[in-house]
Order: sequence, then C-alpha cells, then structure tokens
Amino acid sequence: MAYDHVIITVDDSSTMRRIIKNTLTKLGFTNVLEAGNGVEGLDVLAKNEVDLIITDWNMPEMDGLTFVKTLRAKDEYKETPILMVTTEAAKEDILTALRSGVNNYVVKPFTPDTLQEKVNKLLGL
Ligand SMILES: [Mg+2]
Repeated sequence: MAYDHVIITVDDSSTMRRIIKNTLTKLGFTNVLEAGNGVEGLDVLAKNEVDLIITDWNMPEMDGLTFVKTLRAKDEYKETPILMVTTEAAKEDILTALRSGVNNYVVKPFTPDTLQEKVNKLLGL
C-alpha cells in the first residue's frame, strides 16, 4: 500500500527522525519531510503543504509546545493533524500537550504498530 500524503517529522535527533521516517516508509508513506526544531519546521511548512505533522517536544530554538501553539494560531494550520512523539510520559504532560493543540500523543520508545495506528487515525485511513 502506498499513500500520497505528505508528512513532516520535526525532531532535534536525526536518529529519531530516521526511525520515524523509516517506519513511515515501511507503512507506505514515502513523502516525509524533516526539520530539526520548531523554527525549521515553520520554514519547511511555509514551502510545503503537509497532511500530518509529527513533532518532538524537547528541541532547541523552538520546542514542540511552542511550535504547536504557533501553528494553531495560524488559520492555515488550525485543522492540520498534529502527533506529538516524546519521552514526556507524565499524565499532566500529555494533558498540557493536548491543551496546546496536539491531536494525539506517542511516548518514546514506540513500536511501529503504535505509530501506524495513530498516523492512520489522524489521516482518517
Ligand atoms: Mg528532542
């Protein structure tokens, strides 16, 4: 199965970006963009239309929460699905992320099945 959805993974760890990208590729999502933090993410998004944003929380320059709040404040990203993938697993952290505008949440380390389930759900597949 191949999909034409465009997904961006925003994470300061190039290893994590590679893991997410490889997992998505195996699931049939071959259009995956990358950014190393929120500032870079905004830059990539200004030049590309994406169907799903996958973002880390802890990043230099602009962290994931600020990134999500910045996106949600813009009309064009009010509805774009956002999945947060992070090591912050405390219940209050998850609530904070959801309140900031994140649609769903994956705690690292995750299995390919977990990522697939959340991605499919957010893309309506
Ligand atoms: Mg990080």
